[in-house]
Amino acid sequence: MSELLTADRIEEIGSLGLKSPDPAALVAELVGAVDEGRVADPADIGYALLVAVDILENAGDLADALALATRAIAEQPDDNAYARAVRGGLLLRLDRTDEGLAELTALRPLLETDPDATYLVDELAESGHAETAVEWLTGALDTILDRTRTHEHESEDAQDEAAAMIYGLAQQRHDLREELGLPHDEYDNLADRLRAASDHALDALDDGPATLLFWPQAEFDALLVRWPPLVGTYPPTWDEHRAQLERALVDASGMGGADLGVVAGTVDGLAAFAQDAGSDPTDEETLDEYADSLDETVTAWPPGRNDTCWCGSGTKYKKCCLPRSRG
Ligand SMILES: [Zn+2]
Ligand SMILES: [Zn+2]
Repeated sequence: MSELLTADRIEEIGSLGLKSPDPAALVAELVGAVDEGRVADPADIGYALLVAVDILENAGDLADALALATRAIAEQPDDNAYARAVRGGLLLRLDRTDEGLAELTALRPLLETDPDATYLVDELAESGHAETAVEWLTGALDTILDRTRTHEHESEDAQDEAAAMIYGLAQQRHDLREELGLPHDEYDNLADRLRAASDHALDALDDGPATLLFWPQAEFDALLVRWPPLVGTYPPTWDEHRAQLERALVDASGMGGADLGVVAGTVDGLAAFAQDAGSDPTDEETLDEYADSLDETVTAWPPGRNDTCWCGSGTKYKKCCLPRSRG
């Protein structure tokens, strides 16, 4: 009497399989359980077969892998996009190009709606169709960016999902184009900006106290006069500068950030700092390093609702920057 095949065991085989000296035994264990109706949760049948596909493919047995992928598709008729993509990739690697492209092309619309569907592009890229992969990514980005422009009033969840998809598609496209030796285009620059912004947000959450650089009113005005290029980095008015920082702090605390605070910069301080460091005072990196150098003078955020506001206005927080975050 053989045992039931549990999801844990399938997962274990999946991680063992690629290193195992006897991959055939693992495949037999998986396929045997499917054949004999011993998969503990029938919803895992497709999963078991796809793990076997992976092991076979890794062992170079593409024909048997294809047969099992085809079976996995039939076993899960309602949710088989991933299995179909795997089958499409196998067909491509077996030089059955037309069939493989047809299988993947049928799934292509998923790139615009399903954040996980980037596996489609992996299948293309891993079978010598990187140019097609880039083309599909470009098309999906065009569509999603268009949609976010025309549906500005979508729910916050829908906006978050679109942002996450744009991020994933742009990164994957950027890296593929880099492998192809193509120069940066507009979407590659977007990918770089998004990656920098996300590293930045994560750093701010990881590195203990997250402090933001704040310019008191007089300093803010002097700053833009002294270094006009910073006009592009900061909002046009001091009120908007305060509001932007308050919103960033609210967001960071919503993402679990602790030890948040602001440090107040001065024009003379930045000038001296940049000169010592031999760096450009209008560079974002210089501004970040300058903010770090002020970490002895952090004003913790948020202040109590009835305490004076962090921005130095002298007004109670609840009547000053607290409501600004919602503006
Ligand atoms: Zn880049
Ligand atoms: Zn304030």
